[in-house]
Amino acid sequence: MYFIANWKMFGDSKTLKSLNNVINFVKKNKNKRFKMIYCPPFTLISSMSAKLAKSAVQVGGQNCHHAKNYGAYTGSVNPKMLKDAGAEYVILGHSENRQNGEDDKLINLKVKNSIDEGLNIIFCIGETLKEKKNKKTFSTLSKQLRIGLNKIKNIKKIIIAYEPVWSIGTGIIPNNDDLFNTISFIKKKIKHQSAKVLYGGSVNNKNINELKKIKNLDGFLIGGASQDTKKLIDIIQKTYN
Ligand code: PEP
Repeated sequence: MYFIANWKMFGDSKTLKSLNNVINFVKKNKNKRFKMIYCPPFTLISSMSAKLAKSAVQVGGQNCHHAKNYGAYTGSVNPKMLKDAGAEYVILGHSENRQNGEDDKLINLKVKNSIDEGLNIIFCIGETLKEKKNKKTFSTLSKQLRIGLNKIKNIKKIIIAYEPVWSIGTGIIPNNDDLFNTISFIKKKIKHQSAKVLYGGSVNNKNINELKKIKNLDGFLIGGASQDTKKLIDIIQKTYN
């Protein structure tokens, strides 16, 4: 199972100290074979990678620019720069960035160029509340997968995170049957048996007891709750209890 922490716009050099708990927890629970990935803001990628260097916990970026080379893109970071800072993953297609104007074609270019630089991709897809109400969930997901992963051959480099937009940061989660059906729909669409599909959206240390019952899930992408190390550890412990 994957547990991916999306710190969003959160964290500073002091916050990194809270990772000591995580490092110890992961060391003690090697036998459970879960994978933890922390995605902090750009400012913390180097220092977090250094802190986690001896641990099995890996680091990822939260987005990147599509350009392969340096360029006049103020405020941006490309995949090569992420890799150089210590990231092994990058979140792409997060709805908070889609809402800021990123479209499927641009995300596809970012996926390609990030894979070329050796990064693994945490590829986010999900429908809005309006699309859900209009029964457009599957068509939205199909389009996001078709264009976003167009001509991507190395599907092993991709982890898909199904994150319904109406669930992110709202405390509302899909019911287990709907979630099971959506995850199997995604797995069928990508036609790759070993593809990993995670759920993200308001996962916390209370609703994990329900979410862990969903048999076809390969893990969770956790935003708000991951900012508190104790909550994140609690989520992992409850998943295995
Ligand atoms: C996210 O931002 O990817 C996310 C899942 O956020 P939250 O857990 O806070 O809903």
